[in-house]
Amino acid sequence: MRGWSFPAGRLFGVDIRIHVTFLFLLGFVWFSESLNMGFTGTGRGLALVGILFGCVVLHELAHALVAKKNGIAVRSIILLPIGGVTLMEDPGPAKSDPARDIRIAVAGPVLNLLIASIAAAVILLFAPQVNLWSQPFLHATNLPRSLFWGNLFLGLFNLLPAYPMDGGRILRAILAERMDYTHATRRAVVIGQIFAMLLILVGVVWDPWLVLIGFFLFIGAQLEDRSAIFQSVLASVRMEDVMLTHFSILSPADTLQDALSKAVHTLQDDFPVVRGTELVGVINKSRIVDALRRDGNGYVQPAMVRTFEVARRTDSLAEAFRKLQGRGLSMIPVVDMGRLVGIVTLQNLTHSMALLAESRRLRRAEESS
Ligand SMILES: [Zn+2]
Repeated sequence: MRGWSFPAGRLFGVDIRIHVTFLFLLGFVWFSESLNMGFTGTGRGLALVGILFGCVVLHELAHALVAKKNGIAVRSIILLPIGGVTLMEDPGPAKSDPARDIRIAVAGPVLNLLIASIAAAVILLFAPQVNLWSQPFLHATNLPRSLFWGNLFLGLFNLLPAYPMDGGRILRAILAERMDYTHATRRAVVIGQIFAMLLILVGVVWDPWLVLIGFFLFIGAQLEDRSAIFQSVLASVRMEDVMLTHFSILSPADTLQDALSKAVHTLQDDFPVVRGTELVGVINKSRIVDALRRDGNGYVQPAMVRTFEVARRTDSLAEAFRKLQGRGLSMIPVVDMGRLVGIVTLQNLTHSMALLAESRRLRRAEESS
């Protein structure tokens, strides 16, 4: 999804990106409004789009800022024609915290409802001629009224219990208090898809926009379901299932030239650095090459990374992945009773995951025959 979007600035330390399909919406408004109302109509049409998307941005920013406050890294906000998406780091099932997830999910709709109530109060007090309750609710000819109804719709619509809408996320968090995270996600996804189907059915007789929204919800729910399955596969694989047990190590007293020639002869890009029996650091090929270029041939000791994460044999791959991502490292040593027993590198992972999947499939076939 990120690939089809371009940067549009930064607010409160969060990158805002616009998806290319959003430009089609602008083009569509431009075209249809200029047919109906001429040039001034076009300006108002674009102002309406601007107001609605301002509200979507505020909605997503509310999610992003509450997430940041709860220690979750936010990558960016992407604006789509149907609304926004906030891409944030997934803290994963191990660190699931339903109360935190509810706070993050609720923040967006609450902000829209707040804007709607302020707009309503201001309009009722100072501009009664705006006629808050008359149709059409959302139209370029009445921007203040559109501001009120737009935010009211955004707030209420997002509270629908249809995953991945905010209401669905709240539902999942509530379910996650009673069952594990993967099951909670799957159940929220099923409820979300039932909702999407209902919207499509209602839309067929009532309003084609609902069909479109239902369709997007359905797809969204399916994507979330896949990522939940992927997460649960990662959670079922343990480090000892995929770790390399035959690997080369370096000593802090090795020279960088020695280290580089080891990388050439072993096909290994990442090395644990061991002094005696103690694991003291990790280093990879690009660090070795960089250090050689910068300072000439020296020792491994000053070039290695000293703060690194280790995993235990029984840790899940999902946990290891998060540790790797957090530090930007490409290898994680596996330690048992203080002794180095294996390594898992990003390089070997795709290879060993494929083999593991194959051996599991063969074992299942054997059991069933
Ligand atoms: Zn939201």
